Amino acid sequence: MTGTITSTSPADPARVLGEFPEAGAAAVGAALDAARAAAGDWGRGPAAARAAALHDAAEAVRAAGDDLVDLVVAEVGKPLVEARAELARGVAILRYHAQGALDPDGATYPSADGRTLLMARRYPLGVAGLITPWNFPVAIPLWKAAPALAAGNAVVWKPSPEAAAVADRLGGILATVLPAGVLSVVQGGGDAGAALVDGADGVSFTGSVGVGTRVALAATARGIPVQAEMGGLNASVVLPDADLAATAATVAAAAMGYAGQKCTATSRVVVVGDSAPFTDALVAAVDALVVGDPADAATVVGPVIRADAAAAVVAAAAAGGTVATGGERLDRPGWFVAPTVVTGVDPHADVAQREVFGPITAVLGVADADEAVRVTNDVEYGLVTALFTRDLDRALDLAGRFDTGMVKVNAPTSGVDLHAPFGGEKRSSIGPREQGKAARDFYTSTRTIAISPAGARA
Ligand code: NAD
Repeated sequence: MTGTITSTSPADPARVLGEFPEAGAAAVGAALDAARAAAGDWGRGPAAARAAALHDAAEAVRAAGDDLVDLVVAEVGKPLVEARAELARGVAILRYHAQGALDPDGATYPSADGRTLLMARRYPLGVAGLITPWNFPVAIPLWKAAPALAAGNAVVWKPSPEAAAVADRLGGILATVLPAGVLSVVQGGGDAGAALVDGADGVSFTGSVGVGTRVALAATARGIPVQAEMGGLNASVVLPDADLAATAATVAAAAMGYAGQKCTATSRVVVVGDSAPFTDALVAAVDALVVGDPADAATVVGPVIRADAAAAVVAAAAAGGTVATGGERLDRPGWFVAPTVVTGVDPHADVAQREVFGPITAVLGVADADEAVRVTNDVEYGLVTALFTRDLDRALDLAGRFDTGMVKVNAPTSGVDLHAPFGGEKRSSIGPREQGKAARDFYTSTRTIAISPAGARA
């Protein structure tokens, strides 16, 4: 039995944005069949044709502009300025991978006999199954689909039900410029996702650790490649010599922007030495953030995605430490929670060990830089760390000691470059990196081919 997804706005839950029938196993199977039928011509055809189609896709997404941005704001509560930036990034991702379709697709090697042509060449996987979360409903699907398509794969994409309307619109835009069957959208939740894992030739997942780990196990059991980018519990580490006001403003935005609903958000602030002055500056910076309607260009902190997400923030704030600011729902319609800073938190407390995925950050005081490294690394996640200091020697030493896939110095944990490798360590990540040139490693299989002259071995 399949149902219907009713998409509503977290800023105004009475506002319905659309209804979408869920794809059952048969519909997912039909999308996979259509993709498999289309994959041959698409993957074996000229790379220049794939490049041209991706350039057309970039133009089509750019042309959808304000309409798509407004839908992102309404459906996932992303503040307008960030939604505009996400759309611009989506266009840039498509252009980058359009160009990448024309990159060299292999290498040659000197052969043992000197006459054999020995080469290693990348081949597409076939049908790439993409499973995406709701929080970057344009950029994440595109940073998976664009390199998959550029490398010659067909794509079946299962978006989050929380972003069904954006997915429907984005899928429709892409369908206008791609050959039939090359990219299709299957709407639904876990069952549709599981059916996709059951039939695709490779699966790229982004979402929570629990679901991603299950997806990776199921894909591995089928013997297909899998990549899973999952949660984070990212620390901003503040050394005593850091610029107090600038660091507080950067950390406040990284923790609370988009209501903390980024895998790269700062959820722990590790302060070396006397933590009181920095905590005061952080609380002041957090209190200065504009909280409200995500459609307002001044808003930095909008709603969280669902009622239970709001309740989770309130519960986490009450579970340990001292609430320095926030800790409660806002008295207005929609899923709004006050940006929350909790101080005096034990590094092993739940709020310092588990991703809440909301506007909450825990301040942890430590005695010295070595303890900061220990506390920062003492979680099961490993996505990103930010270090704040004016001491270059310190930065060079410490940057290599954090076990996260990304380390930034004097910059927010949030924000990634579309042309650099992206991914985490430990439970944050399974499989090869996403984005940039690294993305090809997942969407292709390298075959070593040796072509010898006829009769050479007679
Ligand atoms: P989620 O894990 O609940 O869902 C992710 C996707 O998996 C959705 O499309 C969902 O429908 C699907 N799904 C659910 N059950 C499934 C199953 N059994 N089989 C296959 N698919 C299934 O995550 P979410 O709430 O949409 O997103 C928030 C999470 O995503 C946070 O943990 C956040 O840190 C993480 N995230 C990570 C990154 C990254 O790149 N590391 C980026 C953005 C978000």
